Amino acid sequence: MNLLLDKWIPVIEKQILKRISLQDVLCGKCDDDVTITLSRDDMEFAALQLIISICQSIFLPENENELKQRIDNPISEAEYQKFITPYKEWFDLFHNKYPFMQAIEVHTVKKEPISISIQNILPGLPAETSHVFFNSAKEVEKICPSCTAIALFNQAANAPSFGGGFKYGLRNVPITAFIQGDNLRATIWNNILPKDFGNLPQAQDNNEPVWVKPITDSKIDPSQIGLLRGLFWQPAKIKLSDKIVMDKKNTCMLCGIETDTMVASFIRKQFNFEVEGYWNHPHSSKIITLKKKKEKPESVISAMPFNNSNPTWTYLPGLLYQVEINAESREPAATIRHYYDNNDKAYKLMVGGYVNKQAKIKNRRHDTRPISISPIWKSKSENPFSSLGDTLKEVKQFVEKLKSVCIIKCGENKINLKKRAIELFYQRTESDIYNIIKNVHLKKKDEEKRELFKEISKITKKIFQEVTFTYRHKPEYLVEILNNEHKLNKNIGKLLKEENPK
Ligand SMILES: [Zn+2]
Repeated sequence: MNLLLDKWIPVIEKQILKRISLQDVLCGKCDDDVTITLSRDDMEFAALQLIISICQSIFLPENENELKQRIDNPISEAEYQKFITPYKEWFDLFHNKYPFMQAIEVHTVKKEPISISIQNILPGLPAETSHVFFNSAKEVEKICPSCTAIALFNQAANAPSFGGGFKYGLRNVPITAFIQGDNLRATIWNNILPKDFGNLPQAQDNNEPVWVKPITDSKIDPSQIGLLRGLFWQPAKIKLSDKIVMDKKNTCMLCGIETDTMVASFIRKQFNFEVEGYWNHPHSSKIITLKKKKEKPESVISAMPFNNSNPTWTYLPGLLYQVEINAESREPAATIRHYYDNNDKAYKLMVGGYVNKQAKIKNRRHDTRPISISPIWKSKSENPFSSLGDTLKEVKQFVEKLKSVCIIKCGENKINLKKRAIELFYQRTESDIYNIIKNVHLKKKDEEKRELFKEISKITKKIFQEVTFTYRHKPEYLVEILNNEHKLNKNIGKLLKEENPK
């Protein structure tokens, strides 16, 4: 199965599940409403990311003009063939010398690696030996070659390592963000940077993928990793089992499409290397922290992760615009910055990533509906998005105040109600906040912001009543609850800029 030649992209087209080729998409041979479809949202997101990474490395436009032409018009089949010719051998899942994202020989010093179920390559599903409650350890026994390629890429680029000494990818466990277009082809090109944009990894003499030119150095300078090599970095040695050719067609459990070839297991091995610094990945927001060292302060860069399950809007500072938070600076991904520098249209931001605790996945955060962002937030301002930033900052500061009044003290006793209150706050205010991000009007911006804060205030008062309800009947807590309610009302007054809040 070759990612540059075969029909491997799982889509729904005119209500039919099918696979189409990359050539079908880039040459405009598929329907405009075709969408990538898989049974897991993280795999759908990874399939798009895989396509974008292929296009960024192989169909790299020279400049802004060339990129604009690609967005406006499909490329010809002859052009497609010309671009892919040098790379055909590198993107074949079962190639006899260079199998895609695999190591041809996986030896261990002591013993042969044990073959493990393909399920282990899907983040968040239990390993064969785990104690499980909700998912069976044998939930996914075989998948089609297309889904295998997507899962291999996702494991290497987005997921935590396998644990037990396996290395993480170049971005650890990152948030990835893309701009959605009107159709699949537009979405792909919206997220491609032209060669002259700067900031793209430029190393030309070290651009072969690691399955063609394996990692041999124990210490690696990130500036020496080329664009293709970095986008397809594989931190583990993995080899798929031989493909199984079925007697009759089977339905793949991940994409739901019939296939006569399946993959059931793989072998894996960890190996040691150290990337000394941050590789400038175009799909990640960066966190830059100034660390005090003995001689002089040093900037440490990492990809922005999801640290908790709070709604995605709380991550917009850094995902969408630059922001300084305490001693660190957060910068949007190069692709996002490039898009908003060159477009004045409304944005649809697609965001995906895992919340992890070391090798364990705690939560999947792949927003199936993109966040719509009004272009008004960046217009007529020297600092784009500054007023959106101020609005979100005020809401976040208000959340902190809500937390502090949800701890009710009574002598030695303390009741902590903040976890429940914050959960309710995020649930009940999410749609109002996304609404203002999407629908703000230039002339009524301040008025609409005030309306949002009024709504938030109403919701918060109700939440405080709810979470303290049980304790209001206990005289020992009542005084403190009323005190805290008064503090909350004062903070609501500040949010609404009222002198005498009721
Ligand atoms: Zn499949």
